[in-house]
Amino acid sequence: MMKLEKGIPIIDQHDANGYWGGKFGGNQIAESLNYPIEELTREFEKLRNDATFIAERDYYFKNFVGAPTPFIKLENLTKHLGGAQIYCKLVSKATGGAHKAYNAVVHSLICKRLGKTYIGGDTGAGYAGKMLSMAAAKFNLKCKIFMGAKDVERQSINVFSMRSYGAEVVPVNSGSQTLVDAVSECMRWWTSENEEAHMCVGSTVGPTIFVKICAWSTAQISREMKKQVMDEFGEVPKDMKLINCVGGGSSAAGFWNEWIDYDNIELIGVEAGGPEGSSKHAAPLTNDSRIGVLHGATQYVIQDDQGEIEETESISAGLDYPGVSPLHCFLKETGRARYTSASDEEALEAFQLVSKNEGFVSPSLEPSHAFAEAIKIAPKLSKDTIIVVDSCGDSAKDSKIIAERLGYKI
Ligand SMILES: *Cc1c(COP(=O)(O)O)cnc(C)c1O
Repeated sequence: MMKLEKGIPIIDQHDANGYWGGKFGGNQIAESLNYPIEELTREFEKLRNDATFIAERDYYFKNFVGAPTPFIKLENLTKHLGGAQIYCKLVSKATGGAHKAYNAVVHSLICKRLGKTYIGGDTGAGYAGKMLSMAAAKFNLKCKIFMGAKDVERQSINVFSMRSYGAEVVPVNSGSQTLVDAVSECMRWWTSENEEAHMCVGSTVGPTIFVKICAWSTAQISREMKKQVMDEFGEVPKDMKLINCVGGGSSAAGFWNEWIDYDNIELIGVEAGGPEGSSKHAAPLTNDSRIGVLHGATQYVIQDDQGEIEETESISAGLDYPGVSPLHCFLKETGRARYTSASDEEALEAFQLVSKNEGFVSPSLEPSHAFAEAIKIAPKLSKDTIIVVDSCGDSAKDSKIIAERLGYKI
């Protein structure tokens, strides 16, 4: 069995070839990317120990992203469910309405330190792209966003935002014309443009250094939450469960980072189970998918017998991805985190229950999957158990889909 080491950040627990547990991750990329990856790795290792860079990061996290985001007890939901005490980390109040801004800011700052003035990135539903173009505008960087042609159609409002911030949005027409293809195309672009340009990968996926930078950026979530938990309880609660949805896994990695060494704290990741009664889903960890290579890294990935990536389905655009971060594959194999899934229907029900009881939380469809798990387990637990759900996205972006599904006209 793979083992975690205490006292060492999880992002540093890979071997010399970039594999966590000797198995997940790596840099299975075109040879021409070896140099830019080495350069980026060297620069990041320097910057993460550079007090000036950290101060700059913290300044923008505070004043641009809006850290710290609130941490609050959901009294009405707790009462309604009648079991564990339910708390919520409201990351949805960060600039842009989700956690994507942390990674976008850090990559933009790194881009500048590398002496580059051009940054490119991938996006699915449009949030990673929107936040990267917003940060790029702030830091005077030319910006290019790769987005599946289907998503460009479906998410036209985000495309409009990106273009307003001055980014060039490139529709990707290959494959399924969604996020998977956008990431591939962005990596191809970087292969030819890396002398001039920097690449930002939108989640904890891709070659090892991108997994590390992204998780290092979202770790802000648990760093600030640790203080909030101490303020609230005066100590680390004995029985605490941290629930987060998992798409690529950047939000969960950041929400858990500071707590991994606390064995008494349970980490629960919730993937997208897709529509009830359908064989399609976006839950590679829950369904024990096969291990394969996607975007340069070994991971659990939803594929057919021939190793072809299979089409995924989820009501939530942010979770609709066939692979998952090597960090989560590692946390699964070590037994440190437990992974499960919620269906489209369960997420929708959770959205309604949370909104009705705690209006201001208004979770988007991604964290509604996490709430669905909290709703399932809370009634069976004692009131001495603390559940914290990361509400990592705001529902405004999903209002059209939700209204359609619930039969409202907006
Ligand atoms: C992008 C996104 C996700 C999925 O990405 P992770 O890397 O798994 O966090 C989940 N929730 C929201 C709100 C998102 O915008």
